[in-house]
Amino acid sequence: MKHLIAGNWKMNGDQALAKSLVAGLAVKAGTKPKADIVLCPPAPLLQAVAAAASGSALALGAQDCHADEKGAHTGDVSAWLLKDIGCSFVIVGHSERRADHGESDALVKAKAAAALKAGLTPIICVGETDAERNRGETTRVIARQLTGSIPDLGSALSLVVAYEPVWAIGTGRTATTADIAAVHGQIREVFAAVGGTARSAQVETLRILYGGSVKGSNAASILATHGVNGALVGGASLDLEDFWRIIEACP
Ligand code: PEP
Repeated sequence: MKHLIAGNWKMNGDQALAKSLVAGLAVKAGTKPKADIVLCPPAPLLQAVAAAASGSALALGAQDCHADEKGAHTGDVSAWLLKDIGCSFVIVGHSERRADHGESDALVKAKAAAALKAGLTPIICVGETDAERNRGETTRVIARQLTGSIPDLGSALSLVVAYEPVWAIGTGRTATTADIAAVHGQIREVFAAVGGTARSAQVETLRILYGGSVKGSNAASILATHGVNGALVGGASLDLEDFWRIIEACP
């Protein structure tokens, strides 16, 4: 199983970046990059990124979706439309959406289920805050978020989980590789437990990404950590050379 490197542009970038960065990445990646690569730009840039990535192995992902297929939801985008315009992935439950938009585990679960129904691979994010970590609640928070956010349907191969400690996102701080290995192990156990025997048989094929200040300079040790199957990268995904170093650091 190849590692998966997902670039989350957040609310950054414009049409010029979509062309230049993605064209440069497409040339480097060609058709057989070392890792599977998915780019998640802001929704208005999805088609520009798709055009610049055309003919390469770069995949397209969105940063969020609505749980419904269509309807009166001004400003929202459905998973079905994302699929229609060429996306294969969608991030759901990113901590910035949980915090800024009050998204609950139940809503994240509904969005992930919609993504699966539409034929997208949801990247389901979980992670504890600094305060929760300091209170020794990491294990409890991860278990609660996972059991609440993972849809009932969907095999280990049809979805991805991203462990993103909130205190590590955009701060330059990263979890230790020992902590990452421990949480990823826990995620695998919880995933197997919530899905019964079918999921427990597939649990080794579940891709679990680490996210939180991953850069070219720290990627190698994180990506070689037991139980880590890739990275969700924010800031560094906007820098062609740094993002490429992360991809090249995959074991
Ligand atoms: C993220 O946006 O999911 C993220 C991990 O950001 P950063 O890499 O900038 O910490």
